[in-house]
Amino acid sequence: GDSFDEECDYLFKAVLIGDSAVGKSNLLSRFAKDQFQLDSKPTIGVEFAYRNIRVGDKLIKAQIWDTAGQERFRAITSSYYRGALGALLVYDITRRATFENLRKWLYELREYGSSDMVIVLVGNKSDLANSAREVNVEDGQSLAQLEGLSFLETSAKDNLNVEEAFFQMITKIHEIMS
Ligand code: GDP
Ligand code: MG
Repeated sequence: GDSFDEECDYLFKAVLIGDSAVGKSNLLSRFAKDQFQLDSKPTIGVEFAYRNIRVGDKLIKAQIWDTAGQERFRAITSSYYRGALGALLVYDITRRATFENLRKWLYELREYGSSDMVIVLVGNKSDLANSAREVNVEDGQSLAQLEGLSFLETSAKDNLNVEEAFFQMITKIHEIMS
């Protein structure tokens, strides 16, 4: 039958966070539907997507929540984080300010999220690295090391490392759960 309806062994929630326009929605649509949009508009209301992933002999259904643009108004509520076991914390490697704002996001994650939440730091838009990079790979690496996070640079546009970022999060959550 349809893979969506397969019996799953685990169901869990994960969230996408980070500044506006860093590419959160495109990372999710790439991961869940293998789609990318050049002009994606913030949608109304919280949205989420599912994807089933096999880890070892277990089938995991990941429910991944995307913001609906509330991050622009710093209006993400605690219910967004409630019950989430994982987070992709995203910045844009071509905009330094989105990296500087990670402190605020980490603070919020720790305020509202569960203490053992798996956080993967994602520097998105790596396809623009040669022309417009404002954040070095080393900066991402050292912040991740300092904060105890996994780290990857991705391109939702060119489909680079997108699966890896989600899989790292999902595999680590599975390790904690089992
Ligand atoms: P969000 O506000 O964080 O959800 O960001 P969006 O997914 O809506 O993306 C914001 C803008 O960045 C859109 O114009 C996307 O087409 C663009 N974008 C997203 N990911 C990438 C990427 O990996 N590379 C490039 N070059 N553009 C991207
Ligand atoms: Mg969005």
